[in-house]
Amino acid sequence: MINKDCIFCKIGSGQVTGDLLYKDQKAFVIKDIQPRAPIHLLIIPLQHFQLFKDLKPSTEDLIGHLFSIANKMAIEFNLVDGGFRLIVNQGEDAGQTVPHLHLHLLGGNLLSPLN
Ligand code: AMP
Ligand code: ZN
Repeated sequence: MINKDCIFCKIGSGQVTGDLLYKDQKAFVIKDIQPRAPIHLLIIPLQHFQLFKDLKPSTEDLIGHLFSIANKMAIEFNLVDGGFRLIVNQGEDAGQTVPHLHLHLLGGNLLSPLN
């Protein structure tokens, strides 16, 4: 399902143009508009859901698929040797600003320690 008020749904469905680095039947990848590292990509499922808890058993394999895309992008952007970080913000305490689950892929320089 797509949410008509969601920016990631709009980009994924082509309603809003975005610079798509990758797209398949289940997910797509864009550059973060406000990068926090030299390489900052977002791996986003086409289907709208905010939190892991909203995932149905039938779509659980989507999570593996998102990690598999993250791996492909890390290779493509030459991040494997230097290293990279994957982040998923869930809800308010984590500072989730777009309520559509996504993976952040960060790399390209030394990242600050996690707090
Ligand atoms: P989060 O805070 O984990 O929900 O991450 C949302 C991310 O989406 C932020 O890092 C934003 O900079 C990024 N973002 C919001 N709108 C767009 C957009 N239109 N295109 C690309 N990135 C976006
Ligand atoms: Zn959405």
